[in-house]
Amino acid sequence: MATAVAPGQGSVAIVRISGPQAEAIGQRLFEAPGRQVWDSHRVLYGHVLEPASGERVDEALLLLMRAPRSFTRETVVELHCHGGLITVQRVLELVLAAGARRAQPGEFSLRAFLNGRLDLTRAEAIGELVAARSRRAARLAMEGLDGGLQRRLGSLRERLLDQLAELEARVDFEEDLPPLDSAAVRAELAAVRAELEQLVAEARQGELLRQGLRVAIVGRPNVGKSSLLNLLSQRERAIVTDLPGTTRDLLESELVLEGVPLTLLDTAGIRPTTDRVEALGIERARQALAAADAVLLLFDLTAGWTPEDQALRELVPAGAVLLVVGNKADAAGLPVGLVPAGGDGAAGLPAAVQFSALTGEGREALVAELLRRCGAGPLEGLQVALNARQRDLAAAAAASLEAALAAGVQQLPWDFWTIDLRSAVRTLGEITGEEVSEATLDRVFSRFCIGK
Ligand code: GDP
Repeated sequence: MATAVAPGQGSVAIVRISGPQAEAIGQRLFEAPGRQVWDSHRVLYGHVLEPASGERVDEALLLLMRAPRSFTRETVVELHCHGGLITVQRVLELVLAAGARRAQPGEFSLRAFLNGRLDLTRAEAIGELVAARSRRAARLAMEGLDGGLQRRLGSLRERLLDQLAELEARVDFEEDLPPLDSAAVRAELAAVRAELEQLVAEARQGELLRQGLRVAIVGRPNVGKSSLLNLLSQRERAIVTDLPGTTRDLLESELVLEGVPLTLLDTAGIRPTTDRVEALGIERARQALAAADAVLLLFDLTAGWTPEDQALRELVPAGAVLLVVGNKADAAGLPVGLVPAGGDGAAGLPAAVQFSALTGEGREALVAELLRRCGAGPLEGLQVALNARQRDLAAAAAASLEAALAAGVQQLPWDFWTIDLRSAVRTLGEITGEEVSEATLDRVFSRFCIGK
């Protein structure tokens, strides 16, 4: 089933069949009235029939794409049925009874890869496009799908192969060839390594765009956590009141800031309490702190930095990204925005940003500083971004080049260079799929949903 399944949702559901038997199965189950021509890349109108009884199961469209002009490069038949749960399930059962088997997650893309239609980076980009939670993440995935990543890595690999060929020739026929300029080889390896390292560094941004960030908002009761949440999500999700301790539940809010998908966790004010319900909320707030990528600690500028604020700050796990924000700048009569170096605000308070959840002033500075501290550098120029698998391999390739360069510095014979260089070439090949193990394929494609 190539479309999402949900009761009563979606007007169309697609059952997709790929492989040498696909056309025969389609013909067996589908009746196209009139003089419609059964031909490749044409849409037929008709009915899906239960072959034994001739019962009409659904009114549908059939699209035939004969090999190799299909996504998998095998013959593909798509049945565009009515959406919902029951009918499409029956169509699927008929298809299975006619000799097909259910696809594994990602199997269509796996076949497309194995049949040479996609390289591995493009296949992964499909999964990322489907999973994208922001426009920018989708754009990044599209770039991968267009082959941007493959071209970039492919050209780095080519450059290494050129050097490798020169070196290997020297290993075998040193006397017959003109001497090799080892400084030039080193410069080229260093240049490729620098590009790989840049890609590894930029991967963090890509990861942020793809996976988003979980940000816990903490602060004493009444400092304005719910107001901040409302301001950022621009929806009245949290209830804002003057009574301390009203935010009892952990509220999760999904939003997109500067292209980065964000899950904001609003927490109940952490403080000693005898109220059982509130105590539960506080416990959850602690858990949120532990699970969040970043903690936004809010305090009230009109009240100053209190011992409770300090106690909260000490609850933030060491090493966590922390942004201390002073709220209610309007009422305190303090300037809004990023507080200049040192972190000491106008009033000698430890705010990194001062702002007002009431007026919204200082919002941009708050968002920019939060993203900056989470490692979301300038996202504007980001063209391609490695995913975690690709990043690890690129880092390994850079390390191999480093080792090759060390061999150069120590004036070791050429074969010492080639070992590491060959390993870098192999590692880059694993990213694009020129050199790839079955285990890698399993890992990549099993994360896809069925039907992709
Ligand atoms: P929470 O308990 O931390 O979630 O705090 P709330 O968001 O419920 O806010 C507590 C009170 O402070 C409400 O009356 C808000 O209207 C008020 N408040 C929140 N932010 C600001 C602000 O920036 N300026 C002023 N003057 N009042 C604010």
